[in-house]
Amino acid sequence: MSQELYDVAIIGGGIVGCAVLFELSSQGYNCILCEAKANIMCGASAGNSGMLHTGFDAPLGSLELQTIQECQSKIFPILEGFDIPYEKCGAHIVAWNEGEKEKLQGLQHHSEAALINNSCIVSASDIHQREPSLAAGALGALYVPDEAIVDSNLLGICFAHHAKQQKSKILTNCEVKGFRGRTLTTTQGTVKATVTINCAGLYGDSVDALAGLNNFQIKPRKGQYCVYGKDTSHLLHSMIFPVPNDRTKGTVLFRTVYNNIVMGPTAEETQCRSPPNPDTDIHRILAQRARSLLPAIHHPIGSYVGVRPATQWKDYQIKKYPHL
Ligand SMILES: Cc1cc2nc3c(=O)[nH]c(=O)nc-3n(C[C@H](O)[C@H](O)[C@H](O)COP(=O)(O)OP(=O)(O)OC[C@H]3O[C@@H](n4cnc5c(N)ncnc54)[C@H](O)[C@@H]3O)c2cc1C
Repeated sequence: MSQELYDVAIIGGGIVGCAVLFELSSQGYNCILCEAKANIMCGASAGNSGMLHTGFDAPLGSLELQTIQECQSKIFPILEGFDIPYEKCGAHIVAWNEGEKEKLQGLQHHSEAALINNSCIVSASDIHQREPSLAAGALGALYVPDEAIVDSNLLGICFAHHAKQQKSKILTNCEVKGFRGRTLTTTQGTVKATVTINCAGLYGDSVDALAGLNNFQIKPRKGQYCVYGKDTSHLLHSMIFPVPNDRTKGTVLFRTVYNNIVMGPTAEETQCRSPPNPDTDIHRILAQRARSLLPAIHHPIGSYVGVRPATQWKDYQIKKYPHL
């Protein structure tokens, strides 16, 4: 392999690595991305909901909220420029009992503190007018109009494509095995770069360990989905969230940019970092949950599973090590 000194080496070609590659190559940096697998976008980024969140329930002052806000200010012109399908379909966080209804006001205050100025509480009759196919019994909802859905896989591919046009290099089947100073040892030889960025997602802790770091451990969390055909798309206009708890946003009913209705994801701790096969019992539970929300929905056409790179920390982790 050539001993060119790159400005930046990025480890991992998921949505994060591809976005970093796109941003830095757009700024004129000479970048190389090393991806262990045969293709980019095959890790955690391969199985998610594709939601562009506004941060309505992200912890105030968190890095998560800060990155979401930055993303919200930049992403839509990028999606337009790449011609990637997305839809600002909005989300209803629906209360189904008095306890949940009481939490809506607090959620709205939280979303306003997170600088989301257009969320509002809607009444039971409003929600049924907006979503006529929703099951009876909703007591009200917080409506967040800017929640959006996107084809996130295509976004990663376009980030990578654009970066390559800016002369950045992408190596697939290129697992980084070692790290010393400016030199990465990979399954395709050595790569030299002034700065290295760990975007290894589900293997972020293993890559950190290559540099002698031990700041977080990946705690994989599985998310399963149940998918319906396009013939159901007229049944839903927005995303239907439950009132969230501390750990998750809960399972959501949403419509993809390709008009499939989807129920999910679950949030299950797992030891396995690669997506297992969908579990038939969970599939049945998700299908029941979908029908409890949309009684007219029938006959799922498929299921899929993703694995989140959660850690012991609630917030995102971005750290700089100038002396490595
Ligand atoms: C069920 C589920 C639902 C989700 N829903 C949403 C959502 O709606 N909205 C949202 O914003 N986020 C969502 N997420 C989170 C989002 O999908 C992840 O945060 C994101 O995909 C992580 O991307 P990544 O690039 O960090 O990791 P990954 O996609 O895992 O990419 C890391 C890459 O690094 C490579 N790699 C690892 N080790 C090495 C090595 N040593 N050398 C070279 N390459 C290496 C891997 O092969 C992989 O391709 C969801 C996640 C899941 C699982």
